[in-house]
Amino acid sequence: MKKHNFSAGPCILPEEVLKKASEAVVNFNNDNLSLLEISHRSKPFIAVIEKARALVLELLNLEEKGYKVLFLHGGASTQFLMTAYNLLNKKAAYLNTGTWANKAIKEAKLFGDLIEVASSEDNNFRHIPKGFEIPKNVDYFHCTSNNTIFGTQLKSFPEFDGVNVCDMSSDIFSRQLDFSKFDLIYAGAQKNMGPAGTTLVVIKEEILGKVERVIPSMLSYKTHLEKESMFNTPSVFAIYVSMLTLEWLKDLGGIPFIEKVNNKKAALIYKEIDRNPLFKGFAEKEDRSTMNATFTLLDEKLKDTFDKMCLEAGISGINGHRSVGGYRASMYNALPLYSVQALVDVMQELEKTQK
Ligand SMILES: *Cc1c(COP(=O)(O)O)cnc(C)c1O
Repeated sequence: MKKHNFSAGPCILPEEVLKKASEAVVNFNNDNLSLLEISHRSKPFIAVIEKARALVLELLNLEEKGYKVLFLHGGASTQFLMTAYNLLNKKAAYLNTGTWANKAIKEAKLFGDLIEVASSEDNNFRHIPKGFEIPKNVDYFHCTSNNTIFGTQLKSFPEFDGVNVCDMSSDIFSRQLDFSKFDLIYAGAQKNMGPAGTTLVVIKEEILGKVERVIPSMLSYKTHLEKESMFNTPSVFAIYVSMLTLEWLKDLGGIPFIEKVNNKKAALIYKEIDRNPLFKGFAEKEDRSTMNATFTLLDEKLKDTFDKMCLEAGISGINGHRSVGGYRASMYNALPLYSVQALVDVMQELEKTQK
């Protein structure tokens, strides 16, 4: 039986997607060629990328609202600098909610002045700052919707009248949001959309063209928009598998359906974390992520026993990030409810051994 895969990323993908993807590697479209050995400009691949783009807009409810979809290289980490390179003239505002936000801030500082509107660093990023003001005269506001490492998530987004940029790497397609509030959304595929190797960018073209600096072709959104993500060879395999995953999600009932499942999974694990006297949640309750649940064992001496029990139960990938320690159960879209139940069962068994 397949393991219960709680990996934070790259992460679990639906079984049927893996099966279709493996078939395409050998024989794509019954054409007796591998997906990996055909031109990215061939008709069959153009159909794939067009379908992927259409599914992104459909699932996010952004059709006919002036958005363009790009599949780029370099991960979300390249977006940290590309956003600033393309949008930062003088000043930008950033919300600092953890490691990834910090990295985005560091890159953006290379291009202009930054205002950190709020930070939860002094609380080791256990909560999402609230009640802060975003100055009106900034080129854009940047936030991170879900903090993969600390297990916090923005439940609502600040109202900002200007350009809104969001790193949604670890919770895009997981919950219903008014995505049209954002002018630029980016996400590395490997958390909730597909395998590593491509980065999704959903952008309103009208926000571009406002900076005066010269932007190298590969780092310019304009280049990629003009060439429809084909300025250079795109990650054909990652885009194909992302397309399959989006198709899988659409067939299930899209974001409204998966959001319910994700809420159930999160409720199940957090209930146990709060009930079980051996465990303690890391993030503050009101800001807990539905994607990444972070928790610790109160008695470190139980770690070896718990780890062994998890291993025996086929639970994989729950070690916390090195900056937080403890455990992190990542429950992305493709993780079934029964996997969370399996983890909860082990937590309860551990409790029994202490009685
Ligand atoms: C994983 C992650 C990143 C980094 O993604 P890469 O594709 O590895 O560059 C950025 N932001 C968030 C929120 C993430 O979870």
